[in-house]
Amino acid sequence: MALIDSFGRRIDYLRISITDHCNLKCGYCMPVFSGRPHLNHVEILTYEELYRLAEAAVCAGISKIRITGGEPLVRKGMVEFCNMLGSLPGLNSLALSTNGVQMAKMADSLKAAGVNRVNVSLDTLQRKRFEKITGCDKLEDVLAGIQEADAVGFHPVKINVVVIRGVNDDEIAQLAALTYQHEWHVRFIELMPFQQALFGDYQDLYMPIGAIIKRIPHIKEAHVGPGLATNGPARMCTLPGANGKIGFIAPMSWHFCGSCNRLRLTADGKIRTCLFAETEIDVKTPLRAGASKRELVELFYDAAQAKPRRHHLSRVLRPNPRQRAMHAIGG
Ligand code: SAM
Ligand code: SF4
Repeated sequence: MALIDSFGRRIDYLRISITDHCNLKCGYCMPVFSGRPHLNHVEILTYEELYRLAEAAVCAGISKIRITGGEPLVRKGMVEFCNMLGSLPGLNSLALSTNGVQMAKMADSLKAAGVNRVNVSLDTLQRKRFEKITGCDKLEDVLAGIQEADAVGFHPVKINVVVIRGVNDDEIAQLAALTYQHEWHVRFIELMPFQQALFGDYQDLYMPIGAIIKRIPHIKEAHVGPGLATNGPARMCTLPGANGKIGFIAPMSWHFCGSCNRLRLTADGKIRTCLFAETEIDVKTPLRAGASKRELVELFYDAAQAKPRRHHLSRVLRPNPRQRAMHAIGG
């Protein structure tokens, strides 16, 4: 069954946030002064509840699920949950977004549980700078996590780099150069105005994708092969002689709403129709009130119909204080 929204887009991808907690505190995602407390145990959906919703989503037309957070690897029992999802009939792909801190010790069991793709966030290769961005001295753990993910067969490991002007933009060339040595996909992402970032004002920190691209040596000779030009929202290419690929994700400069295929489920049981819209559909209340599978499937249909045509973030110059922080949405 296909899930089609009111603008004719096929919705087949669900991102499930299993927690808003995290073992890092990236300044653009979870500023310490946001004043929003974390969810408590009772507010967060149990794995059984998440599984019932995933089952309903697949029945509605979802075929790809990504587990995210907060940091999904910090929630106890997440490998067992992946195992449950890994054998869900009709689900073709089970992906994971992680900060990689615990990846080295979990990569093997995640692969065995049926996870087939991983994205790891890595904004810098400098230990002190990593600590400045994330509030924690964990760069070595993340690098070990990426290596281990590669070693157990997650091919390619995708590395997400949020570029922050004046903080890590001087490392763009070095991060892109990782693709000479490794088969990784290094994707540069424009900073989005979710929260008042710790490092300064959004307008000063935001670097448009055009400026990011100009920092990459030999980009003019990069190869954009057939089928490679896009990969979800990322535009991909290969630097001459590289083993991996580089990609660009520009939610601000090149919005990709026309091909958006996704819904999001927050850890507290709300379907979000767009990363940037405030519209949320409460699925936890009906679920806990005993809704049938059919009724849950209907909620996914409703969510698809409520998807806006596009976001208007490029007109936004500062964070919206009513917006949930990224860690509480599930990036
Ligand atoms: N903890 C995991 C991680 O860091 O990959 C998964 C959740 S995190 C919210 C998902 C992605 O959102 C990360 O790649 C992170 O860099 C990105 N992100 C968070 N806040 C952002 C912002 N303000 N602008 C752009 N990307 C952001
Ligand atoms: Fe945690 Fe990921 Fe947000 Fe960083 S980006 S604070 S690792 S949830």
